[in-house]
Amino acid sequence: MRIYLSLPFKIMGLLMTLLLVASISLTYLWVGESNQNYAFQQKKLHDKDRQQVQLIRDMLRTRVESWFESFLHFQANYSQNAGDIASFMEREFEYLQFEWHINNLWLLGGEGKLYFSTSKSTPDYIYNDALKALKTQSSSSFIRCLDECQQLITMPVLTHAGDMLVLSIGSSLIETLAALNRSTFAKLAILSADSVFNKSENLVNLKVKMPISFSNQEYIQNILAQLPVELKISELLDGGYRFENEQGAYLLSLTAVDPELGNQTYFLFVRDISEQALAHRRYQNKVFFISISVVVLCSVTLILLSMQFRKRLLLLAAQLPLLAGKKYRQFRTFKFAKSHLFIDEIELLQDSACLLADELESMDRKIELNTRELENIAMYDRLTGLPNRNMLNHQLKKQLASLRRDSNKIVVMLLDFDKFRKINDTHGHKMGDSFLAQAARRIRGSLRDSDMLFRFGGDEFVMVFVEKAMMEGAPILAAKIIESLREPIAVEELLFYSSCSIGITSTNNADILVDDLVRQSDIAMYASKDSGGGQYSTFTNNMLTAVLRKVELENEVRNALDQSQFSFALQPQVNIDSGKLIGFEALLRWVHPQRGFIPPDEFIPLIESSENMLRIGYWGLKKTFEILQKLDELGHPGLKIAVNLSASQFLDPDLLPFLREQVRVFRRSPSQIELELTERTVVADIEHTLDTMRQLKDMGFIFSIDDFGTGYSSLSYLKQMPVDIIKIDRSFVSGMNDNSADMQIVSSTIAMVQNLGMKVVAEGIETSAQFKLLSQLKCEIGQGYFISRPIPERDLFLSLPYKLKSGVWDDLDKISKP
Ligand code: C2E
Ligand code: CA
Ligand code: CA
Repeated sequence: MRIYLSLPFKIMGLLMTLLLVASISLTYLWVGESNQNYAFQQKKLHDKDRQQVQLIRDMLRTRVESWFESFLHFQANYSQNAGDIASFMEREFEYLQFEWHINNLWLLGGEGKLYFSTSKSTPDYIYNDALKALKTQSSSSFIRCLDECQQLITMPVLTHAGDMLVLSIGSSLIETLAALNRSTFAKLAILSADSVFNKSENLVNLKVKMPISFSNQEYIQNILAQLPVELKISELLDGGYRFENEQGAYLLSLTAVDPELGNQTYFLFVRDISEQALAHRRYQNKVFFISISVVVLCSVTLILLSMQFRKRLLLLAAQLPLLAGKKYRQFRTFKFAKSHLFIDEIELLQDSACLLADELESMDRKIELNTRELENIAMYDRLTGLPNRNMLNHQLKKQLASLRRDSNKIVVMLLDFDKFRKINDTHGHKMGDSFLAQAARRIRGSLRDSDMLFRFGGDEFVMVFVEKAMMEGAPILAAKIIESLREPIAVEELLFYSSCSIGITSTNNADILVDDLVRQSDIAMYASKDSGGGQYSTFTNNMLTAVLRKVELENEVRNALDQSQFSFALQPQVNIDSGKLIGFEALLRWVHPQRGFIPPDEFIPLIESSENMLRIGYWGLKKTFEILQKLDELGHPGLKIAVNLSASQFLDPDLLPFLREQVRVFRRSPSQIELELTERTVVADIEHTLDTMRQLKDMGFIFSIDDFGTGYSSLSYLKQMPVDIIKIDRSFVSGMNDNSADMQIVSSTIAMVQNLGMKVVAEGIETSAQFKLLSQLKCEIGQGYFISRPIPERDLFLSLPYKLKSGVWDDLDKISKP
């Protein structure tokens, strides 16, 4: 886990640590220095004590020595000899005792002879010192302690008689102690050890030598009792020892009573240094106080300063997430505090943040605009501004879901222009686009506000609206739209006359798939187109069955092509007048392995515009060339074969190159091939058809118009085309003998066609009466069951020798001529 530690706190921590280290070091130095000073002062005191002892001893010694010397010198009568001196000393002893604190006097002779003594016994050191003095002829002074301590001065004395004597003077230390006390202001005591010891031993082994303690006995004892047991004598000898208790501070120092002798007796100096200690402590306290104050003061200043920065940084940190949340306005309403004089890094950071906010906001706005545009592209059609197929899906889904809540129905109408491709092909896509945009506006004009209009793609538009289950508004609306689109649409000074087909479907089933619903309207729309366009159809299940059938059929046709199930039956066409065979019409035959013979009328209209129909067509054209070649080989040159062409085939760009190729390969004259077109094929795309016809005509192909009379075209209209033959539909021929209207049509058609320089073929001649009548009407060519049923290709080649006699088919020349 990571712990949040504020930046100012980090810096502060660092600075404070540095500060602490510095102040501790300084304090340590100052305190060390003061301690050293303090110790040095003590050492100085200690040394002074020692010097003082020496000084006072020497002073006292000199005084005693001078007194004796001057006395002996000036009082000659008393110093004639040893006896005089001895008696003088005896006399003066009391005075010396009282005034000079002299306890003992000895007078010794050259050979250690004792002339005078105030003590009962004379210790050995007296003799030894005396001998030494005699030898060196100089005085000496020692402090010796036995029961008590005394200063022993040994000095050589010369009698007037000239004898060398030695005077030993023992004085008590009271004088010395008093002088020391006066000069050092210290409490004094003499300490000594009972047994032999060395300096490294503990102080407790030393006892106060009674009675020579010059000051308050109790005071000294009390302090000694409080000293630590392990305190070494050497410590007190070297530099003194500082001791503190509640009452005060004391400096204890030891000095050997006589350093030359090295005896075990010491002067103990006890000084009250409470005042110095207090001053020293005060000084140290001051140092500590100053150090701590400096640290605290600096810390507080730092905290206050860093708090200021911290506050500003935290503010910035609190504001920045607003940018992430795109709350620019909120970000801007907050104003960062600014200094009038100085700019610092935080202010620069704040400025950058503001800049970032501006930049981000403008970027966001751009992104939003772009997104909306993309959404528009995704959901709206750019050309018409209408919602597109994506939106249709979306809206239909929404509407279908609403069906769960109410008992309405949803109506979907699909509109498709009948000949929009022509506009594009002849006037270019720009015009086509303008047309669509205008048309869209017109459609929208026919709708209510609540109706939805979508551009489905190309020239297809979809309308969606909701209505009560019982209502049937869709056909009325469809009719209204079809009517409105019949009015010409003006695009750049051009007027376009168009028609459209509409498919209608509706549902109250919320579970239907959007795609299925749209497909239903599409199927219905194609039904309208199949019925000639310019109308609406309402989807029925039969339509769906038909579509499914068509799909199935297309698959079957594909298989049939692959498995060569197609063949031709050839129906003879004869000259009615002479009965001579002119040629045949090739009629498609499909023998399905399971379903047997399937008549062309049952499958061709269904697959009319499919890829498979094209394949069948090309197969048929090639087959025609083959049959002509075969007939040639069988000795029937010059016969012609009529082939039926579907509309899509005729508009296929591959048709021309294909026929050109066949002509080249079979080396056959195209004039033997008659291409049959229906009026519907011709009018589907008149300009394109004409263009193709002319090119084929130039190559030598012959054209006939099939089923003439069933369409709307007039002969004068057909006259503009390179048509050679008109085939009168069999419905007129069959009614001709009983129905004067049919008779009228047939006779006038024959007359007019011939008038225009074309030939006439009468189809579906079933009886001899029809044959005879046609003969009377001067119809040139006839075709029908009466002459012959269509003959399968293989049978034809076998039967031809029997049927044909001198070019006359089946003795037909005998019929028309009674
Ligand atoms: P269609 O072009 O009018 O062909 C003549 C149809 O009339 C043929 O029907 C023929 O068998 C039939 N027929 C001939 N004489 C008589 C008669 O005396 N009485 C009656 N009741 N019918 C007669 P089929 O073979 O069933 O062909 C039907 C239609 O299929 C053709 O009508 C043609 O439009 C189309 N078709 C046939 N073969 C092809 C083809 O190879 N390509 C294309 N595109 N269409 C074809
Ligand atoms: Ca035909
Ligand atoms: Ca026909």
